[in-house]
Amino acid sequence: MADRIFLSSPHMSDEGYEREYVKEAFDTNWIAPLGVNVNQFEKELAEKVGSKSAAALSSGTAAIHLALKAVGVGEGDIVFCPTLTFSATVNPIIYQNATPVFIDSDYETWNMCPKALEEAFEKYPNVKAVIVVHLYGLSTDMDKIVESCKKHNVALIEDAAESLGAFYKGRHTGTFGDFGIFSFNGNKIITTSGGGMLVSDHEERIEKVRFWATQSRDQARHYQHSELGYNYRMSNVVAGIGRGQLKVLDQRVEKKKYIFEFYKRELGALDGVKFMPINDWNDPNYWLSSMTLSGNVRPIDVMEALEKENIESRPIWKPMHMQPFFEKYDFVGSNVSENLFENGVCLPSDTKMTDEDLERVVKIIKGLWFE
Ligand SMILES: *Cc1c(COP(=O)(O)O)cnc(C)c1O
Repeated sequence: MADRIFLSSPHMSDEGYEREYVKEAFDTNWIAPLGVNVNQFEKELAEKVGSKSAAALSSGTAAIHLALKAVGVGEGDIVFCPTLTFSATVNPIIYQNATPVFIDSDYETWNMCPKALEEAFEKYPNVKAVIVVHLYGLSTDMDKIVESCKKHNVALIEDAAESLGAFYKGRHTGTFGDFGIFSFNGNKIITTSGGGMLVSDHEERIEKVRFWATQSRDQARHYQHSELGYNYRMSNVVAGIGRGQLKVLDQRVEKKKYIFEFYKRELGALDGVKFMPINDWNDPNYWLSSMTLSGNVRPIDVMEALEKENIESRPIWKPMHMQPFFEKYDFVGSNVSENLFENGVCLPSDTKMTDEDLERVVKIIKGLWFE
């Protein structure tokens, strides 16, 4: 059987930057959730995205959790979030005993529909916060969302877990809201094996997040706690991997774009195929190349044909309002995300793929149209 082609797998630098930083952590015995790599990774990432400060945490999910806490979301509060996303966007809302209200996508961006958001504001004028997601590295239409949030005086959190390296009108995604979060899970555009980052221009709030993330230890010789704490800090070993990966982020974005354009060129004219929307204001990171199908060939046909040849692909995220655990919460919108889920497929977008690998994928998919 031919070598497996992955959807998106870890890709360490050819130069071995990651090993160098990890070695430094070993050599200095900073095998702990603090040290030079943690401090530097925070600084380097903040610089890269153009944010004033950053807190390195154990996961993107932890970052969303502490962002919600930092904007004051607590028991009984309402938080708007997109229905078309990974469950990690929503779970922290429940951790805070708050209530999610799911907002539909639009076809122009695949992300939160600004009109549906306005509708939701009318229905729930007392909402506490809005979370937006930049799905597959495509940015949400931020001007409209930011304007809405300002008008209603509501905190905005950007789940940029999938969009590190993506820009909206020249500005990095994750830096429009009160807080932005990034993820370094194994399948993301760069990875630390697992980890996350919270960014914000409010330095004192980031300082507070670091405090919560290290068990809320007050300044005292003994162990003194006046607040609930969490063990959410990133380890210095993991941060070393992150520093190395950050150096190749631009290369990874370039390759992801190459993969997307390859697919679009080869498959874009097939009957019923439509690729994910690239708007003029959007500079995506093309994390996963995705398309929808409206003809006779169905997403399941594509996924099965690829799987037979040892190639990984998957459906678009299943909307949260259709999930057994979340269906009891309200949903505002129509059937856009449901349609995207039913008709969409994410193609293998691994940056280690060669042109031969891409040819292999394309040939199998084309075969479904010309059997
Ligand atoms: C991966 C992901 C997360 C969670 O990040 P972790 O680091 O795995 O906790 C959150 N939101 C979205 C949209 C993601 O894709």
